[in-house]
Amino acid sequence: MSALDDNLTKLGGYLDRFRAYGIPNRIAGQDVAGSGGVFQTHTPVDKSVICDVAHGTAADIDKAARAAAAAFADWRDMPAKQRCDILIRIAEGIEARAEEIALCECWDTGQTIKFMSKAALRGAENFRYFADQVVRARDGQHLPSPTLMNVTTRVPIGPVGVITPWNTPFMLSTWKIAPALAAGCTVVHKPAEVSPLTARLLVQIVEEAGLPPGVLNTVNGFGDEAGKALCEHPLIRAIAFVGESRTGSLITKQGADTLKRNHLELGGKNPVIVFEDADLDRAMDAVIFMIYSINGERCTSSSRLLVQDTIRSEFEAKLVERVNRIKVGHPLDPATEIGPLVSKEHFDKVTRYFDIAREDGARVAAGGTAVGTEGYFVRPTLFTDATNDMRIAQEEIFGPVLTSIPFRTEEDALHMANDTAYGLTGYVWTNDLTRALRFTDCLEAGMIWVNSENVRHLPTPFGGVKASGIGRDGGDWSFEFYMEQKHVGFATGQHKITRLGAS
Ligand code: NAD
Repeated sequence: MSALDDNLTKLGGYLDRFRAYGIPNRIAGQDVAGSGGVFQTHTPVDKSVICDVAHGTAADIDKAARAAAAAFADWRDMPAKQRCDILIRIAEGIEARAEEIALCECWDTGQTIKFMSKAALRGAENFRYFADQVVRARDGQHLPSPTLMNVTTRVPIGPVGVITPWNTPFMLSTWKIAPALAAGCTVVHKPAEVSPLTARLLVQIVEEAGLPPGVLNTVNGFGDEAGKALCEHPLIRAIAFVGESRTGSLITKQGADTLKRNHLELGGKNPVIVFEDADLDRAMDAVIFMIYSINGERCTSSSRLLVQDTIRSEFEAKLVERVNRIKVGHPLDPATEIGPLVSKEHFDKVTRYFDIAREDGARVAAGGTAVGTEGYFVRPTLFTDATNDMRIAQEEIFGPVLTSIPFRTEEDALHMANDTAYGLTGYVWTNDLTRALRFTDCLEAGMIWVNSENVRHLPTPFGGVKASGIGRDGGDWSFEFYMEQKHVGFATGQHKITRLGAS
């Protein structure tokens, strides 16, 4: 049996349960039907229906928010060590079901098993990392003044909403939910409507690990209905959101009346800048990895290549050769490097840019075509002869599509790198240390790697500037979002209190 057949057989077993029971909402530890009925979720591999999914509405969000509010005090006050143990058991549960999570994620989203098996384990790592932080999450400072002993402490903000997108949905959900739970918050999760499978697995795993009912609630549904209701709900204190920039701005508006705290992780049009003095072989590998892995459906992807004109011809020629050799295929085949795009809507969006590139005067140097009609497959694509003002250089395509733009000087490169609405990541390839220092200092991005692809280290801050987001995750930054600072001043009883109405 081939590895693909083997994976398909295993997947069949895992999908049976989804087919038989569909995906209900999970509220206060109970399966609850969606008050809007059901909708169907499809696989982008062959467009077939996977299962029915609860169509959650504002009424379901209300139930879930009440459940999260009711569970909050006990979860907040549970001894930290006990909470930590539950988070560790969740990590173990994810590890035990990592294969199931990865296979279901691939079928639901079109992501390849090559990358999703690692993403599932990264979900466990997120829980382990934040489990380690639980015990000191409430720690504060001692700031004495001559007449007061001032202390600070942190307290969890309350029930929070987590709204996630469809690209690597399991990993991203755990990245938000793990620190929220570690902080002592309860959660209502609204997964993306096109990728609901692994959110169901997560809620099963956390309950089996002993998370009390109501601490994590999952409501499926659409953004402008369930998502909007979550942002507007008065019992929800904050929204952790990952998704498109224009949705981020809706999240802000929808939360205004209830004064929501929002953390927004949004889109990107990230530059990778390759100078002539760089290690060009390593730069080539990283350029390819950062746009063609994970189907290019990755917020941190380097979708703009800025390459120095002196090395451009040779670099682009080698790039074309490599891009043409990337294997597009069934996402459950371990040899596949690119699977289908997540949905028809997204496939239509990405393929439109093949025409836009030509209309705007760029050259399609590789790809630029769909593959078959069975699913939403496209060839990895490279646009050359582009300028930074073209739509293919300014708009987030969010697929395996790279736009290459030449530059002459360091100043040109910096100007182009910053000349975009976004500012999530930047990647700089040079062996000139002082140039790297100058360049990174002026590059407008929340995260920058020098001579490296994106290598995530969980204690470091994750987030973007400009239209790429507001706020940071990672390390203690996550707790800053999910917790409130509290100051208490204890007087020593000696200071003079100004007396009014006493004379
Ligand atoms: P999206 O904004 O369309 O949807 C994300 C989530 O928001 C979904 O659950 C959706 O139902 C919900 N939503 C939509 N409208 C809403 C509304 N009015 N109120 C509340 N919720 C609403 O994004 P997508 O297409 O699912 O995901 C792709 C985008 O996510 C890309 O732009 C990508 O760059 C971004 N992303 C960013 C990061 C990051 O860390 N910066 C990480 C991954 C993805």
